Amino acid sequence: MKNNEDPGSEKKPGLSTAHSEDMTQALPFLPYGRHHIDDDDVATVVAVLRSEALTTGPAVPAFEAALATATRAQHAIACGNGTEALHLALLGLGLGPGDWVVVPAITFLATANAVRMVGADVVFADVDPDTGLITTETAAAAAARAPGPVRAVLPVHLAGQFGDLPALADLARAHGWAVVEDACHAIGTRYDLGTECTGVVGDGRWADATTFSFHPVKTIAMGEGGAVTTNNPDLAHHMARLRCHGMVREATNFQHPAQAFAEDGRAHPWYYEMTELGFNYRACDLQCALGLSQLAKLEHFAARRRDLMNQYTAALAPLAPHVRPLARTPGVLPAWHLHIVRIAFQDIGTTRDAVMAHLRAAGIGSQVHYIPVPWQPYYRHRSTPPPLPGAERYYAQALSLPLYPGMTDGDVERVAEALRDAVGR
Ligand SMILES: *Cc1c(COP(=O)(O)O)cnc(C)c1O
Repeated sequence: MKNNEDPGSEKKPGLSTAHSEDMTQALPFLPYGRHHIDDDDVATVVAVLRSEALTTGPAVPAFEAALATATRAQHAIACGNGTEALHLALLGLGLGPGDWVVVPAITFLATANAVRMVGADVVFADVDPDTGLITTETAAAAAARAPGPVRAVLPVHLAGQFGDLPALADLARAHGWAVVEDACHAIGTRYDLGTECTGVVGDGRWADATTFSFHPVKTIAMGEGGAVTTNNPDLAHHMARLRCHGMVREATNFQHPAQAFAEDGRAHPWYYEMTELGFNYRACDLQCALGLSQLAKLEHFAARRRDLMNQYTAALAPLAPHVRPLARTPGVLPAWHLHIVRIAFQDIGTTRDAVMAHLRAAGIGSQVHYIPVPWQPYYRHRSTPPPLPGAERYYAQALSLPLYPGMTDGDVERVAEALRDAVGR
């Protein structure tokens, strides 16, 4: 191209889009979620690349210690992703074939799939249509439907919120169920339920184990990454063993002395035992170094997410009651992972497809979290979905709008304006 040529003249007329879209092409596309990586994160990972250990070096225990501190848990076990975290927790608790586990219908596939991965069966619970969260009532109703013994319940902290966990934990205790929190959305969420009852998700106040994901779309990015926190030392050791093939290296735990020990009574230096079937679910030093660097910014990320949500609330208030935020759960201060709104598409004479298309044309991504899992062909094939009126109502209205720390205040205004336009208000 010559210097004095108008760059616009290069455009092939046949490929040009509509005028209104042309204007927005200049604006960056806003996905519904995005990681936030800065120069510190990059330097931290590069330093690992130049170091001795690419996997299972110093960054793994350092990340686990920092995560345990951030979540106020006794133990944190890092692993390859949030699905592995769920699988390790359920395996570690000894769940298996013949057991039934209560899972909310509104969640990502992985929550239910982890139950199937240990050979146990899923009984789906309905959710509160205003929050998308499991309740004690829906958990009890699901358990009553289970064809076999229920052994655990997996509350999912959708968007970063949780419901009445103390009551759910009471119900679980009364029936001898384990509680595993799927907190893949909720790293950094705090609660203040009155005197002596303040804390942070992962502290294990109401759960045997809490699982996290550090996929880039989540609040902390490790590329792929996950972790389980627990206050139960036996469970922590068991999960650490399962994470590495079920291998044992501590001489005190060897079961086959004739094989393990030399004549002087010392364990052979090369010796290890495998006592149960485990996996390679390790997180490597590259991932954990990134996780450590990201975790240092958790409070900053959480504050920015809350701040953006406040701006959204003000900007979208005029669209009520056709567009409403999720209902808030009392005493919970979420580090919002998703900005899910409820839109009465039918009442305003539109469809979700049309609204998503309108937003996309304005350079704005949106997504639906989630399709009820019991409606998936795999689960339908296993059993006919029960009536789940709460999940159905929630699903009919849910739409996730962009939310991530790198968004500007202007971006929020841009999304709000496009949405006002899309819903014709
Ligand atoms: C992301 C997610 C998972 C799975 O995490 P991965 O790291 O992607 O394996 C599980 N449950 C919920 C609710 C999630 O959002």
